[in-house]
Amino acid sequence: MPFAYDDQNIFAKILRGEIPNDTVMETEHSLAFNDIQPQAPVHVLVIPRGPYVTWDHFAAEATDAEITDYTRTIQAVIAKLGISPGEGGQGYRLIANSGEAGIQEVPHLHTHILSGRVLGRMLQR
Ligand code: 5GP
Repeated sequence: MPFAYDDQNIFAKILRGEIPNDTVMETEHSLAFNDIQPQAPVHVLVIPRGPYVTWDHFAAEATDAEITDYTRTIQAVIAKLGISPGEGGQGYRLIANSGEAGIQEVPHLHTHILSGRVLGRMLQR
């Protein structure tokens, strides 16, 4: 079944400026902002401006410019936060929850950037 995008989701409202956000970085195609309920000392969400529900939806239908911008924005936020292991930072974890099994709460693609402490093992058993 094709993806149906709900333009009333909370991140769509943030993108339209209807709800405020604590912006970390913005580009032509992407927006990065602090999570409202941080799960770690660093917890940034990066979203594309386009109407994509999940990572695979984005990868299948976004333009090359959007995909490049989104990937590079995530990299630029990591650099800005000083958490790249390649630059002496402590490292990070990226998470993109998708659909029911992934327990995705907001149906607009978002990548969580988590850092600031050792994050524990990837999944609970
Ligand atoms: P998910 O469970 O869909 O992967 O993550 C959704 C994330 O969005 C959660 O970490 C939640 O705290 C965050 N979130 C939900 N509503 C808002 C909001 O209005 N503003 C911000 N900045 N984050 C939000």
